[in-house]
Amino acid sequence: MRNLVFSLGLLLFTATLVHAQRYDLVIEGGRVMDPETGLDAVRNIGVRDGKISRVSSEVLSGRRIVHADGLVVAPGLIDLHQHGQDLDSQRVKAFDGVTTALELEIGVPDVARFLREKEGHSLIHYGTAASHVAARALVFGAPLSSGGSKTRPGIPEILPKSGPATDQPATPEQIESMRQHLRAELDAGALAVGMGIQYTPGATRLEVIDMFRVAAGRNVPVYTHMRSTGRIEPGSAIEAISEVIGAAAVTGTSLHIVHINSTCARDSVECLSLVEGARARGLDVTTEAYPYIAGMTSINSALFNPGWQAKFGITYDQLVLPDTGEHLTKERFDQLHNSSVTHSVLVFSNTQEMVDKVITHPLVMIASDGAEGHPRNAGTYSRVLSQYVREKGALTLMDAIRKMSLMPAQVLERSTADGRRKGRLQEGADADIVVFDAATIRDRATFEKPMEPSTGVRYLVVGGTVLVDEGKIVPDVFPGRPLVGPGKDASAKAH
Ligand SMILES: [Zn+2]
Repeated sequence: MRNLVFSLGLLLFTATLVHAQRYDLVIEGGRVMDPETGLDAVRNIGVRDGKISRVSSEVLSGRRIVHADGLVVAPGLIDLHQHGQDLDSQRVKAFDGVTTALELEIGVPDVARFLREKEGHSLIHYGTAASHVAARALVFGAPLSSGGSKTRPGIPEILPKSGPATDQPATPEQIESMRQHLRAELDAGALAVGMGIQYTPGATRLEVIDMFRVAAGRNVPVYTHMRSTGRIEPGSAIEAISEVIGAAAVTGTSLHIVHINSTCARDSVECLSLVEGARARGLDVTTEAYPYIAGMTSINSALFNPGWQAKFGITYDQLVLPDTGEHLTKERFDQLHNSSVTHSVLVFSNTQEMVDKVITHPLVMIASDGAEGHPRNAGTYSRVLSQYVREKGALTLMDAIRKMSLMPAQVLERSTADGRRKGRLQEGADADIVVFDAATIRDRATFEKPMEPSTGVRYLVVGGTVLVDEGKIVPDVFPGRPLVGPGKDASAKAH
């Protein structure tokens, strides 16, 4: 009998030990901030099976303990607008606090191939839109290469060279083919319909509405780079935003307007008041911006069709090649614009004063529009934390975190229920967590050195796996998982 009691006691003791060590990872003693509940207090986080399973002031034990005293523990940042999906870009995003980076502005030319190639090879979570630009190029017989070009092997082309496929109106049959193609891409797992209307100026108002109808039919949003910028009518930024808000209204589609800072430029505040007005009338319209005065795009795209100087209010000298810092002249511009080889160009078209107004506006979430060549790829998020929170005091730390995690997660919820488990530091949420030093975090990427990683992110947890550990990337882990839209689940069930 005594033996039995002893054995039972031992069993209980062992069970208690196992119970006490139940977390895979514990983040201990950090300032935990959750923008949804407003929690801002010292807490311990217990992570198990890729989820946040405990947020507590009790001591937790786990197989790995990360000491976060003096550090901020926040939901992993979510970038809805990231073109560079290669490992070099993902690496600098990780140092910038990003755990999810999605190509939703334009989308890739082949969704199935994109998802297949990233499976098991991604540092952070990924996903894409179905591309109207690519569908149009395909229908016009000039398909974009998903295997990349000679100068950019392995990186899918997303923007076509200016020509008939971008500039000519489509026939009703061609529009129907585009719609079919977009539906197939949504079946393959796209999260939304992505439109770069300025890159396809031949698209009529009706073509745009017809693409919104595809999104409405599948209950996914449209993400759009709007048709035009500047103040010259017809074709002003105000006309462009009226077009997409109108298309959202008549089709019932959720609308996300990308980089309102760069499209609306000096009319950004007016554009934001139109977004506010649309929302007040019950429309689901959201928007984003990046904290830099220059944009970047392909110099042979339709964005630089004749008339661009008057439209953007800039000239050749404000176009700069990212690799060399060369300011363009008319001769050099003509050479590069007419080339079939794609070159990126930085476009200096905004003022710091306007960028500051946009970034601090309560409706604006942060998204990077990142790709190699522009410092926004590596520095967007820590730049907001260092410049707007710490130096200018223009945003509270909680508001900045909200703009970079919860707000984009809520937009993502329009495409997938997975969005509800992201952007929150709560029990049951995905264990996508950034641990950073709010006193020192800063961007280091510049226009001269655009891939310099940010400093200040001490730990980054992606789906429960530590990717940045004591400020260094952990080699040979690929915890990034796909985020896919409702089409893929539905088509899987039908088969
Ligand atoms: Zn864009």
